[in-house]
Amino acid sequence: MSATVLPILLPVPLDRPLDYRAEAPIPVGSFVRVALGSRETVGVVWDGPPSGGLAPTRLKPVLGKLEAPALPEPLRRFLEAAARETLTPLGSMLRLVSSVSTALEPEPLPLGYRAAGGARPRSALERRVLAALAEAGTLPAAQLARLAGTSRPALARLAEAGLLEPVVLAPPAEPRPDPDRPGPRLTAEQSAAARTLIARVEQGSGVVLLEGVPGSGKTEVYFEAIAATLRRGKRVLVLLPEIALTAQWLERFVQRFGVEPQLWHSGLTASQRRRGWRRIAEGRAPVVVGARSALFLPLAELGLLVVDEEHDPSFKQDEGVVYHARELALLRARLEGCPVVLVSATPSLEVATAAGAVPGGPPARPGWSHLVLADRWGGAAMPTIELVDLRRERPPRGAFLSPPVRAALTATLEAGEQALLFLNRRGFAPLTLCRACGHRLRCPSCTAWLTAHRLRRRLLCHHCGWSAPEPEHCPACGAVGTLVASGPGVERIAEEARAILPGARIAVVTSDTVDSARAAGEMVRAVLAGELDLLVGTQMLAKGHHFPRLTLVAVVDADLGLGGGDPRAAERSFQLLQQVAGRAGRADRPGRVLVQTHDPNHPVMAALARGDRTAFLRAELAEREAAGLPPFGRLAALVVSGADAEEVRGLARALARAAPSVEGVRVLGPAPAPLALLRGRWRERLLVQTAPSIDLPSFLRGWLAGRRLPARVALEVDVDPVSFL
Ligand code: ADP
Ligand code: ZN
Repeated sequence: MSATVLPILLPVPLDRPLDYRAEAPIPVGSFVRVALGSRETVGVVWDGPPSGGLAPTRLKPVLGKLEAPALPEPLRRFLEAAARETLTPLGSMLRLVSSVSTALEPEPLPLGYRAAGGARPRSALERRVLAALAEAGTLPAAQLARLAGTSRPALARLAEAGLLEPVVLAPPAEPRPDPDRPGPRLTAEQSAAARTLIARVEQGSGVVLLEGVPGSGKTEVYFEAIAATLRRGKRVLVLLPEIALTAQWLERFVQRFGVEPQLWHSGLTASQRRRGWRRIAEGRAPVVVGARSALFLPLAELGLLVVDEEHDPSFKQDEGVVYHARELALLRARLEGCPVVLVSATPSLEVATAAGAVPGGPPARPGWSHLVLADRWGGAAMPTIELVDLRRERPPRGAFLSPPVRAALTATLEAGEQALLFLNRRGFAPLTLCRACGHRLRCPSCTAWLTAHRLRRRLLCHHCGWSAPEPEHCPACGAVGTLVASGPGVERIAEEARAILPGARIAVVTSDTVDSARAAGEMVRAVLAGELDLLVGTQMLAKGHHFPRLTLVAVVDADLGLGGGDPRAAERSFQLLQQVAGRAGRADRPGRVLVQTHDPNHPVMAALARGDRTAFLRAELAEREAAGLPPFGRLAALVVSGADAEEVRGLARALARAAPSVEGVRVLGPAPAPLALLRGRWRERLLVQTAPSIDLPSFLRGWLAGRRLPARVALEVDVDPVSFL
């Protein structure tokens, strides 16, 4: 018998499959067990010829094929393309798909029992068991145990003794989302948008930016596209920022389609992940809604991809495999032959530009289109936005809320309505310093100040997680009782609000206090039920919740986030402030938004106050074009890091010198990264800026191919970086 040689891709950082020997051919895409060094791992039979370096007899054998559906062809092509775009080894991409290794074995089918022929009961228990079976004939083991008042092991013993006969039951039928349940009656504007989306679903291609203020019905509109996809027997993947995966969204889905979609996020238990992955791989989950990692699920027959809150920075994965889920969603859709709907109230400049959505900006790219829902459903008014000039409206000494904000808070709560104070800073204070010597407390292993967290009574580094109790004396001069918290964090603002509003029910909402989808759901419920008067929180609160009784939003420090070395800082501030403003006022209650700033003439502030997003986008676009920044060019960040600062600097310089000189490519740096020290490692950063005509990933590959760094030094490559730390 002649052996077959198969290329097998393994979930390890290798660029290509390895050859293994099999006794018989195994279909491409199959999951197989193989030996890798001294351990066993699961790989996938890959396409193409084996590399053929070794004689078949010298290859290791495939140990077995797993009972899991093969990885679909479009997904295999997607992994290859994504590996190329992100400069990630192909094997590391596979790892994102098959991370739930236990799901690769099928679940045992449910076990049932029926009475064995001629069975005679000899005890009370046996009589109860047979009586329970008399009517039904066959029952699932769990149900039989319950009815007969016994346990499953006891039933197993009865089966061994010949009284019962075990039966393998068919898996329980799974309810499917029903596209034909009636949805709400769409307005003329909404139905026109839905028709366009449905046309894309039918045509199997296209990218649509669906833009509309919060509450304009974007979700209802894309639900229609989901229904159309299901009617065609195809599947749907919806990506949402982790924190927007709330009970509220799920309820809406259940209302429309009658059953819950398959969920995928970091909060699932191991067994939920295993069952979910298996359902998806076996094609039993027609709609999957998940956070960015859901992009790598083995869904076949994809008919529609939705990226809701498209502008959200959390779609960028910054650690491990560095990728932008929105960009990869576009790539996957192209390879699957399905359309993409990008949804946002404040589209990113990249997407708005590509969709031709910036008046006076470039026309739409081929295949892209732009839909706008201009009205809030039910005609609720947009909130008015007022700037509060902190240079004139000074908060009391040691406080951060200005007189107009204090007055508005009191009036809102007196009227029985809810308010929100927004500050994008966790903890109590961003800095602790010594009043005696001026020393500032710094993280021992990062270039970062320690944040005081009063709720936990600790100092915390927000970059590496290092923490320690608040010291009693200054580590520099030794003075006791001289350390003071400087600047505001949400905990401190909540303290200030408590003093202004005695008796108010106040909640602090940050990733420290609301740390799971369930906690977020509970928070939303409490707000909707009117159990809270005031929320004090970070950008967590900016996400698409609907709080009808919330009529006042105050932004504590709108200047935060502007400036700094991030080319998207102004855009992100504008988005964030606009999103927060969108929380205010629903249905019949107009909202009011107060924005505290030291710089009311800054273009972001001025455009915000006028509600003039177009003016802001135009100005921003002109600046980006002049600087050759995205979307008019691309960026990549290369960070060299290691424990020895000198060595890191030297290697970063050598890397820069080795950059091929190509027209349309600029290599900037190296320079110390803004976070020059992180987790005890020194970091030097190079920035690569390319003109639109340049294929950035292949330039980087050409440059980095064959460059070796010592193992103690790391090189991280971030194509299209979102964070510039
Ligand atoms: P968005 O996604 O733009 O924030 P949603 O789709 O969530 O907007 O709609 C906001 C609220 O208005 C939801 O409660 C939704 O059910 C309701 N709604 C939107 N359009 C309609 C409609 N045509 N008929 C009834 N309710 C609607
Ligand atoms: Zn740190």
